[in-house]
Amino acid sequence: MGPTLRSMFEQTVAKYADKEGLVDLRLGTRWTYGEWDQEVNRTANALKASGVEKGDKVSTVLFNTAEYATVLFACMKIGAIFNPVNFRLMEKEIEFILKDADPKVVVFEKATAAQIAPVAKEMTSIEFWSIDEENLPYAMNYYERTDGVTTERPVCELDENDPYAIMYTSGTTGLPKGVIHTHRDMVDQALIMTACLRLTEDDRGLTVAPIFHCAELHCAFFPRVMIGATNVLMHHFDAPEVIGTVREEQITSFFAAPTMWNMMLQEEFTKEDFQTLRQGLYGGAPMAPALTMKLHDSLGVQLLQAYGMTEMGPAITALTEEEQVTKAGSAGRALLNHEVRVVRTNEHGPAEPEEICKPHELGEIIVRGPSMMTGYYNRPEATEEAMYKGWYHTGDIGSFDEDGYLWVSDRVKDMIISGGENIYSREVEDALYEHPAVMDAAVVGEPDDLWGERVVAYIVKKNSGVTEQELDEFCTSGNRLARYKRPRRYEFVDELPRNASGKLQKFKLRERSKTLSE
Ligand code: ATP
Ligand code: MG
Repeated sequence: MGPTLRSMFEQTVAKYADKEGLVDLRLGTRWTYGEWDQEVNRTANALKASGVEKGDKVSTVLFNTAEYATVLFACMKIGAIFNPVNFRLMEKEIEFILKDADPKVVVFEKATAAQIAPVAKEMTSIEFWSIDEENLPYAMNYYERTDGVTTERPVCELDENDPYAIMYTSGTTGLPKGVIHTHRDMVDQALIMTACLRLTEDDRGLTVAPIFHCAELHCAFFPRVMIGATNVLMHHFDAPEVIGTVREEQITSFFAAPTMWNMMLQEEFTKEDFQTLRQGLYGGAPMAPALTMKLHDSLGVQLLQAYGMTEMGPAITALTEEEQVTKAGSAGRALLNHEVRVVRTNEHGPAEPEEICKPHELGEIIVRGPSMMTGYYNRPEATEEAMYKGWYHTGDIGSFDEDGYLWVSDRVKDMIISGGENIYSREVEDALYEHPAVMDAAVVGEPDDLWGERVVAYIVKKNSGVTEQELDEFCTSGNRLARYKRPRRYEFVDELPRNASGKLQKFKLRERSKTLSE
C-alpha cells in the first residue's frame, strides 16, 4: 500500500486537529486542521454524489482559495485525479486542457467565468461548479452542492502508485503537456522539500504564487501540510499586500517567482517589514544575480532557490541561503535521492545518458529521482522521448562546476546561434540587469541574413532614462560580455509577455521580431 498524500494529510489532521491549518485572507476564514478535514470530507462526498469515482478527473480553475485547498484533498479522499488549470489562460487554451483532461467536474470562480463560459456551454457532460453566489445558467453552485452533505470520511482503496494529479506544464515553449504524478511521487517530493527548507510545525507559510503551479503546490504547500505548519492563502499576488501580510500574519516562509521578487523590490519596504521571514523561496525561472544580491544585501531576505520542472515534481536541485552569496547565479546541488547529469547533446535524437560532460562543459541537463512523472497524459511518443533510457531530458542547457554546483545557461529553444557561436540569452539578460535603469529584460534571437540570428534585447526601463547607446557601452565595458554576445538592437517596451507563472514567453517576442523584419 505505502504512503499516499491522503494518509499524509490525515496524519497531520490527527496530530494537529486543533492547530490553525488554513487561513483564507479573502474569505477571512481560519480553519484548524480538524475543521479543514471536515470541509474536505464534505466536498469529497458531494463529488461522489455527482458520480465522481476513483480514477475520474476533477479540474479547478481557481485562484488561491480555501475551496481550491479543499477540492484538492477531497479528490484524494475518493481517489479522483486532481487537475489544476491555470486561471489566466484564454478560452481556447482552457478548452484545449479540459478536452485533453476530460474531467467529470470543474470548480471555478467568478474571475475565471469569462474564459469558462464557452467551454461550459459546449461540454455539457461536465458539471461546472461555481464558488461564487451568482447564478450562471451553465453552472451549479459549489456551496449548494456541498450544503448538508455528510462530513463522514469516505471509504476508498488507494495505492501509493495511483495517479494523484494531471498537471499541465506552463506552456512556455509550446502547448502545455499534461504530466501524470502518483501519490508516491509527491509524498517523496514533499519529504525532500520539508528537509531542504528545514520546515517545522512552527512555520507560517504564505501562498502568493499561483497554487495551480507545482512550484507553489509541491515545493511549499504540501511540505507545510506534511509537517503541520500553518498555511495562509492570498487570493493572488499583490506586492504591497504581500509585504503587509508578512508583518500581520507573522509569516516565516513563502515562495515567489523571480518576477514577483522583482516587483517587491520596486516597493518601498525595509528590513523590519520582513523581520519574521526566515526564508524566501524562488524558482521556476532564472533570477539575475544582481537581483538576488539586492534582496539579500538591502532587505536581508535569506533566499533559497529551487530549480526544476513539472515533470520532475518539480524540484531537482537547490541553492541554499548561504550559497546565494558564494555561488550567486548557480542552481545549486542535487536534492536528496536525485541524480543530475550534464550530457553531450545529440543533433539526431535524445542525448545519451552515458556521454557525461566534464566540469564547465555545456550540455543538456538530464535527471532521475523519486518524484519523476509517470509520463505525459495522452502523449506516449513525447513521453518516450523525454524519458529516454529512464532519464528525464530537461531541454535545458547547463554545466557543473568543479564543486558539483549546477549552472543553468538556457533552454535549448532559447539559445541564439549567431555566426556559428552559441549565445545564451540568460547570460546577456544577467548582464543587462546589472544596469541600474533596467527593470526587466528579455533577450531573443531574430533572423539575420548574414549571421543566421542576431541578438535583440527587450527592455523595461525604470523611471530614469537610458539610451540604446548607453546600454551597448555598459554591456561591453568591464568585460561584462564578449562583443559578439551583445545585443545588436534594443526595444524599449512597457512590459514583457509573461505567463501566469511569471515566465517569459520568448516565443511571443520572437514572433514579434519576425513580423517586424518581414
Ligand atoms: P513548457 O514545458 O510547457 O514549455 P515550462 O517548461 O515553463 O513550460 P515548467 O515545468 O513550469 O514548464 O518549467 C520548467 C522550466 O522552467 C525548466 O525546464 C527551466 O527551463 C525553467 N526553470 C525552472 N526553475 C528554474 C531556475 N531555478 N532557474 C532557471 N530556470 C528554471
Ligand atoms: Mg518544460
